[in-house]
Amino acid sequence: MFPDRSVCKAANVSYPTSEQELISAVSMATIAKRKMEVATRFSHSIPKLVCPDGEDGLLISTKYLNKILRVDAQAMTMPVESWVTLRQKIEEATKAELALPYTPYWWGLTIGGLMGTGAHGSTLYGNGSSVHDYVVELRIVSAGGAEDGYAKVRMLNETHQDLHAAKVSLEENQESTNDATGKCNGAMLVASTLMNTAFGLTNNGILLTGYPVIRFQNRLQSSGTCLYSPQDKLIRACSWDSRIKGEFFHQTTFTIGLSVVKNFIEDVQKLVALEPKSLCGLGLYNGILMRYVKASSAYLGKQEDSIDFDIAYYRSKDPMTPRL
Ligand SMILES: Cc1cc2nc3c(=O)[nH]c(=O)nc-3n(C[C@H](O)[C@H](O)[C@H](O)COP(=O)(O)OP(=O)(O)OC[C@H]3O[C@@H](n4cnc5c(N)ncnc54)[C@H](O)[C@@H]3O)c2cc1C
Repeated sequence: MFPDRSVCKAANVSYPTSEQELISAVSMATIAKRKMEVATRFSHSIPKLVCPDGEDGLLISTKYLNKILRVDAQAMTMPVESWVTLRQKIEEATKAELALPYTPYWWGLTIGGLMGTGAHGSTLYGNGSSVHDYVVELRIVSAGGAEDGYAKVRMLNETHQDLHAAKVSLEENQESTNDATGKCNGAMLVASTLMNTAFGLTNNGILLTGYPVIRFQNRLQSSGTCLYSPQDKLIRACSWDSRIKGEFFHQTTFTIGLSVVKNFIEDVQKLVALEPKSLCGLGLYNGILMRYVKASSAYLGKQEDSIDFDIAYYRSKDPMTPRL
């Protein structure tokens, strides 16, 4: 089910438990000329392109491709299978005193999904904030020709130019009152609640006693306990979980190069100066999230150091008409 509550339908789902079974599923679907998509644990992607077209497609679940294969503290590498989540990756790295320095803020993303969409945190430091820019080796199974048995296995490392092509695949290229004042009051409440609760940070694991909050990076960089909360009538489900009547929003994300980003920010400031209440609707959804993303060698990565803007806002319950 997608965030707009529309349902992805496929003819069947395959659950390979090994690379050999995956190869066999891919080659059979290739011979039958079927469309395939990879399905992950929480399927966090918002665009609906992750669904195979029509109802005859094949979903390949990576549910059983879920192992951390090795932790090599000396080489500072950690080969994993695709279903491993960011949470597992951070936790296992920490045990070996390693860190993935910059990550998305959400634990539930899988390594396959992260790489599929070029997911990132925020920094221009070092290799930047995109997880794919820390990938040094990839093993890929894709559809192949008859000479490959209809499925091809490729191993790419930093000596292969193709690694830059493959490491980002971009599969998919409340209100109490409805008037502007009501929205602005609501937006102030959201902002002050988040700030007063320090966006969930605590000094001792339980309470916020004051700033600065000093914790190890692996305890601060990413979150998502609601994903793992007990299934007790879903009262502790994540607020956007489609099984509950929770948050319902559309999201627009775009990137602007650092060389011209000042103009965009000034334009937004001018809009607010012209009509101070005009953007309060965005405040209800935590405002505009700005994150630094560094230029990447990935062919589908960013071409220059940039800022990514994420804007979440009200959406209609009709899946076909997102409101801009
Ligand atoms: C609450 C929340 C917080 C988020 N925070 C961030 C953030 O901080 N930064 C950020 O950049 N993004 C963020 N996102 C967006 C997120 O990174 C993407 O939606 C990501 O793709 C989700 O990963 P997933 O594992 O759920 O993959 P899915 O949504 O299931 O899959 C994404 C795409 O990757 C493909 N795919 C998955 N595995 C494989 C594989 N093994 N081989 C080939 N293709 C594969 C899928 O078919 C699909 O097309 C957030 C999303 C949510 C819901």
